[in-house]
Amino acid sequence: MNEIRSKIPEIHRLLAASFGEPGVLHRSSPLYWCDNALEVLLATILTQATSDKNALKAWQNLKQLCKEPRQILELDEAVLIKAIQPAGIMTRRSQTIRGVLQAIYGRLGEYSLEPLAKDPKLAWEILNSLPGIGPKTAACTMLFGLGLPGFPVDTHIYRIARRMGWVGPKSTPADTQVFLSEVIPFEYQGGLHILLLNLGRRYCRPKNPDCAGCPIRHHCGLGMKGDTD
Ligand code: SF4
Repeated sequence: MNEIRSKIPEIHRLLAASFGEPGVLHRSSPLYWCDNALEVLLATILTQATSDKNALKAWQNLKQLCKEPRQILELDEAVLIKAIQPAGIMTRRSQTIRGVLQAIYGRLGEYSLEPLAKDPKLAWEILNSLPGIGPKTAACTMLFGLGLPGFPVDTHIYRIARRMGWVGPKSTPADTQVFLSEVIPFEYQGGLHILLLNLGRRYCRPKNPDCAGCPIRHHCGLGMKGDTD
């Protein structure tokens, strides 16, 4: 664990140099357009199992209809479904969004997550207890909404972590998230999450990864296997 932790600053530096930015939310992400932690949670629900482009369109539609998240509960079901239709699986998503808003009000007495910003343990417990919310969405909300530690592991990061040798081949996405949340220092978590997503899209693709061009191949178990430098 210490060996991986010690390499994180260098891996972050190499990725930031390669992608020309330190790892900040891009305008193409719906999370970029969120004003508070509750909005980050709702926007993250829209990003599940779809592209950022589709999720952004759905989020823009929703923001046009509702200036405040609580107003979503006043929307007619058909109107909500139509608004989030670009993200797909909209009936299930609409139920999740409504269920989450009701549960947050039930737990906190307001349509806001800000009371959780000073209590990481309670924030993690409440976010994971919300209906339809798993550890990845919870970690996204912790990190990008509340500014608290957490390292969301999506399919890109899960794949990279196994290829890098950070976790074993049998490690689940949930195990991987627990491990990386612990091993990656908080100050690198947001930037590295975004940079690794870029890496997964550009170099560490599901099929035919471009290890020869990968900026972190010298830190990667799989990359080093085929390295002839
Ligand atoms: S060297 Fe290859 S397998 Fe390793 S992170 Fe880079 S692209 Fe992925």
